[in-house]
Amino acid sequence: MEQLHALVADGTTYMGTSHRQATVRNKVGEVREGLHALFGLPDGYEVLLGNGGTTCFWDAATFHLISSHSQHLSFGEFSSKFAAAVKAAPHLGDPQIIASDVGTHPFAIADDAVDLYAFTHNETSTGVMMEIQRPVGAKGLVAVDATSGAAGLMVDPTQFDCYYFAPQKSFASDGGLWLALCSPAAIERIEALATSDRWTPAFFDLKIALDNSRLNQTYNTPALATIHLLASQIKWFNDNGGIAFSSGRSRQSAEILYTWAEASDFATPFVTNPAFRSNVVGTIDFREDVDANRIATILRANGVVDTDPYRKLGRNQLRIAMFPSIDPEDVASLLACVNYVVGHL
Ligand SMILES: *Cc1c(COP(=O)(O)O)cnc(C)c1O
Repeated sequence: MEQLHALVADGTTYMGTSHRQATVRNKVGEVREGLHALFGLPDGYEVLLGNGGTTCFWDAATFHLISSHSQHLSFGEFSSKFAAAVKAAPHLGDPQIIASDVGTHPFAIADDAVDLYAFTHNETSTGVMMEIQRPVGAKGLVAVDATSGAAGLMVDPTQFDCYYFAPQKSFASDGGLWLALCSPAAIERIEALATSDRWTPAFFDLKIALDNSRLNQTYNTPALATIHLLASQIKWFNDNGGIAFSSGRSRQSAEILYTWAEASDFATPFVTNPAFRSNVVGTIDFREDVDANRIATILRANGVVDTDPYRKLGRNQLRIAMFPSIDPEDVASLLACVNYVVGHL
């Protein structure tokens, strides 16, 4: 709400400006510097951005981040999609795909043939989070899809080379943009592949994105409101203690959710290993005789929206967002509503 008000307050001087003008470039600069501070990026790391969201970044990565062989941890809808994009790319070798059952995550296996390890910080479809750690002995780059995890989960930047996300989840902004925190090794890879003879469409060219980002610009016109909303959220995080603050809010929400589910006689956390249970997206299974769909429908009719599960998972489940902007007290209120609805079914 405050983010929207800040946008309205700046609206007449900000919206409608060319993205090559100072007002917008300063905002992009604020985003880039704000992310540097939020994640405590070491010297030499750079913040890149471009249009098209995370799904576009996967395609860009197939051109300018993977040399030939990648290894993917596949444990849900999103992590499997990147692996599929790589598999389909004719200029890359067959990726190694390590899969595990939904509700768990697999572990990487260091292999000298692998030049990029693809992790997912939070698998949004199943509510599983994983700790980001370089595989012991690995020489390849570590690239992390943090679309739903960034800012809601703690991360050590020395453990990744490319941590990419989009602003519509933990940053409470809008979609259509990708952001990537890149280590010097990732930048070196981008520069090397850009001068190789691999044909690359300009929209997926990470060297073009790198050059534009350094000027606080994007290759083509971005959605200005998205950037403004994102800058406000980053500032709010940084003004209140940084990532310890933002991830702390999600952790608090998660404690409330899982404590409730474990004590409940009709609900249980879908993810059985407590270490894998996500702090940003909670998945809760319901007893067979309690119809989760019906609960979601009743909640929606009463203005409590978007508790639906990921459909392809096909479970009697609710999925609860616990992004940093969500007040942990609101999670507690939601659970009181669920208790009330189930009590009156
Ligand atoms: C939402 C999501 C995506 C897709 O993001 P887009 O910006 O819509 O392309 C990818 N990965 C994860 C983990 C997500 O949660």
